[in-house]
Amino acid sequence: MTARPKSEERALREAVVATALAMNAAGINRGKSGNVSARWRDGAFDGFLVTPTGIPYDRTTPEQIVAMTLAGAARGSVLPSSEWRFHRDIYAVRADAQAIVHAHAPFATTLACMHRGIPPFHYMIAVAGGKDIRCAPYATFGTQELSDHAVAALAGRRACLLANHGMIALGASVDAALALAVEVETLAEMYWRALQIGEPVPLSDAEMDVVMEKFRTYGQPQEPV
Ligand SMILES: [Zn+2]
Repeated sequence: MTARPKSEERALREAVVATALAMNAAGINRGKSGNVSARWRDGAFDGFLVTPTGIPYDRTTPEQIVAMTLAGAARGSVLPSSEWRFHRDIYAVRADAQAIVHAHAPFATTLACMHRGIPPFHYMIAVAGGKDIRCAPYATFGTQELSDHAVAALAGRRACLLANHGMIALGASVDAALALAVEVETLAEMYWRALQIGEPVPLSDAEMDVVMEKFRTYGQPQEPV
């Protein structure tokens, strides 16, 4: 691939910072936890741009966004997010992932602390690509084990929960990944609310097939109706 203009990389770095700020402004993450990345290819460079570790998002500059190769080599003045492994591993196996948002979203994380995924209690669950949103088993943050669990839980999906930790959403752009993360948190909140009254009535497999087909037919994700 030919080299890309510096302005393109700069714009993507700015978009990563803006998405990290938007993630907190949307209420799906607080403080310095969570992280955001975007796939980046430039000449021989094949990797992604990821938020650095330990810097509040409102003090993170585009220059501090860390460029990492798919081999895991970092290029930057600061260290990458401690969760760079699952970003790397997701980009390595998921051609549909152009951006990844990881958040400690309160409702999604509440469910994840109960090791509960989100079942098809609402048709919009299909926005994440399947009939449920899985919860990956627990592993220590930053480890290869956590990354392996995340990649497995994301099979056929664009989002998953991480037990006792948070959630991951991916998409065709930083905006799409962020929008999905917000949607997953909304679903998690509605599911949590329903659980306060009892067990919500799940949609049948056949009905979810119909919804999945409609999502495919109308482009994905379809606007809720
Ligand atoms: Zn985390």
